[in-house]
Amino acid sequence: MEYYRIKEDRIVCLLCPHYCTLSLNQIGMCHVEKNVNGVLECLVHNHPSAVHIDPIEKKPLYHFLPSSISFSIGTVGCNLRCPFCQNWHISQNGNIDTSITLTAVDAVKYAYQQGCSSVSYTYNEPTVWYPYAKEIGVEAKKNGLSNIFVSSGFESDEVCVDIPSWIDAANIDLKSFKPNYYKNTLKASLEGVQETLRSMVRNGIWVEVTTLVIPGLNDSNEELRAMAEFIVTDLGRHIPWHLSAFHPDYKMINTPATSIETLKHAYKIGKEAGLFYVYMGNVSSPSQTRCPECDTLLIERHGFSITHLSLNDGHCPTCNRLIEGVWK
Ligand code: SF4
Repeated sequence: MEYYRIKEDRIVCLLCPHYCTLSLNQIGMCHVEKNVNGVLECLVHNHPSAVHIDPIEKKPLYHFLPSSISFSIGTVGCNLRCPFCQNWHISQNGNIDTSITLTAVDAVKYAYQQGCSSVSYTYNEPTVWYPYAKEIGVEAKKNGLSNIFVSSGFESDEVCVDIPSWIDAANIDLKSFKPNYYKNTLKASLEGVQETLRSMVRNGIWVEVTTLVIPGLNDSNEELRAMAEFIVTDLGRHIPWHLSAFHPDYKMINTPATSIETLKHAYKIGKEAGLFYVYMGNVSSPSQTRCPECDTLLIERHGFSITHLSLNDGHCPTCNRLIEGVWK
């Protein structure tokens, strides 16, 4: 895909729906895409801010290569302005450490040597460094590794069309179901995120959805039910929904942490809406995947570790129901 187009004496970045129009030397609102001599330059190209090897359950992805490890990489910058961001120290700045260099080839070589099954583009919003992410992703594919996009889902139509060519799985945030909150506070669009989710599912990417449940912000019965019903009707009741506990951070240090009771209530709403797989995250209690048909325990996790796994070639060992996901 083309990452920008020329518009008179400026260029338009095509990576996200902000479509920033940049004059010479201007940087977009994500802090990392810049007009350099009439060409869009990704300033974080080859300069990650964080690199770790994580269990895939940490993304979180619970129905994609369980118990595998994922080479996880992020940079600085973001195209959203969430006041509750839990990674704000890297997402909300453009302090690029150019002394740290990691090429796509070296990243994949390292991932492969460490026994990773996948590469995850995560920690900050990978849409804003899409050119670097895709370069790694194409190299990863050549070496038999899967690619995982952990994102707010605020991508341009152009990226949505391109992404199925190299991404295998995604965890996408559904942060709220209030269009005005998305627009005015987060600086994104609910409809845009919904469309990204629909597009990814339609195009065969394995998708799991995460909602950070924040007291007083998105935890009303109506809002949680609306989110669950959207997943059921537009994406499918087999799509896993992760309900993650908020901890006070960034501009919301005075908001209390999410209680376990609130998460359990949200879980119940998800199940009542008809979702097969609902999970609570950022809590100490174990998490289970059960067969939607006969309730057999299939997978149990304590933290990010798998303590029980009984799938028979992706099927329930008791009733033989196919369990949705990518298992090997
Ligand atoms: S990726 Fe950055 S520069 Fe490009 S449109 Fe989005 S915010 Fe603007």
